[in-house]
Amino acid sequence: MTERRPLTIRLATPRGFCAGVDRAIQIVEEALKKWGAPVYVRHEIVHNAHVVSRLEALGAVFVEELEDCPEDRPVIFSAHGVPKSVPAEAQRRNMIYVDATCPLVSKVHVEAERHDREGKEIVLIGHEGHPEVIGTMGQLPEGRITLIETVEDAMAFEPANPANLAFVTQTTLSVDDTADIVAALQARFPGISTPHKEDICYATTNRQEAVKVIGAGADLVLVIGAETSSNSKRLVEVALRAGAKRSELIAAAENIDWAWFEGVTTVGLTAGASAPEDLVQGVIDACCERFDVTLDSVETAKETVTFKLPRVLAD
Ligand code: SF4
Repeated sequence: MTERRPLTIRLATPRGFCAGVDRAIQIVEEALKKWGAPVYVRHEIVHNAHVVSRLEALGAVFVEELEDCPEDRPVIFSAHGVPKSVPAEAQRRNMIYVDATCPLVSKVHVEAERHDREGKEIVLIGHEGHPEVIGTMGQLPEGRITLIETVEDAMAFEPANPANLAFVTQTTLSVDDTADIVAALQARFPGISTPHKEDICYATTNRQEAVKVIGAGADLVLVIGAETSSNSKRLVEVALRAGAKRSELIAAAENIDWAWFEGVTTVGLTAGASAPEDLVQGVIDACCERFDVTLDSVETAKETVTFKLPRVLAD
C-alpha cells in the first residue's frame, strides 16, 4: 500500500446551519406532522438541494409560485421572505399558510416600512433577483425602494430628496463590500439613516470572519453550499481575499475535483448557512480516504442564537 500524503484540514467554526435555516426546516417538518402530506413550500425553503430532497421525501412539495398550490393544502413561505402580496393572496384564497421568513429578514422588512412611514426614500443594498431582495422590495409599493448593488451604483444614485434618505441591506452580503458601498453613500449623503443594528446577520458575519482565519495561508478553501446561496458564494470571495490560493464552492464531496489538491498541504473547509453538517463530514471522510488527515478546528465565535417556531406550530 502506498503511503498517504499528509493533509491538514482547517475546519471553520461557526459554519453551516444558522438559526433561521434551522427554524425554517423545523417549520416544514412540524407542518408535515400537524397537517400530514403534502405540505406545499413556495420556493426552496433554504437554498440547499440536499435539504430540499430530504423534505420532499417526507412529503413536502416545492413550487415557485402560490398559484401552483391547491387551496386545500397548507403552504409555507421560505426563509428568504416574500413580498406582502404573497400572504395577502393566500389570505384571499383562504389558505392555511406559515411564514418561515427568518426573523432577521423580517427585521429588515420592519425597518424599511418604518423609514417609509417617516417619508424617507429607501435604498436597499443587495443582489438583484435574489428572493430576499424581491421579498424586501415587495414590502412597499413599487418604486419606493431603489436597489444598489455596487459602489458604482451608489455613486450614480440620484435620489429625489438627498436630505431624506435611509438604507437597509440584504442579510447575506459580504461585510467588506457592503462597508465600501455604505461608505460611498455616506460620503455623498452624510445624513442618510443607517440600520439601528447591522442588517447583515450574525451568521453571515461569523462565517465570513471564520473563513478569513482559515483562508489566510491556505492552499485551498472548500465552501460547501449551493450556487443559489448568497452567503455561501460570499464565503468563496472572502477566502480568496484573505489569501487562500484557491477557493471552490461545492455542493458535496462528489463535486470535488481531486486535481485541486495537487501540491496542497493545507485545506480550509467551511459551509454556508444552508448546508447541513453531514455534507461537511462527507468531505472530511473523502479526504481521509486519500490523505493522512490532521483536523484542525478553528473557532472564531460561539453561536447561541435560536428562534422560536411560529405559534401555530409551537404547541
Ligand atoms: Fe437568518 Fe442570517 Fe440565516 Fe439568513 S443567513 S436565515 S438572515 S440567520
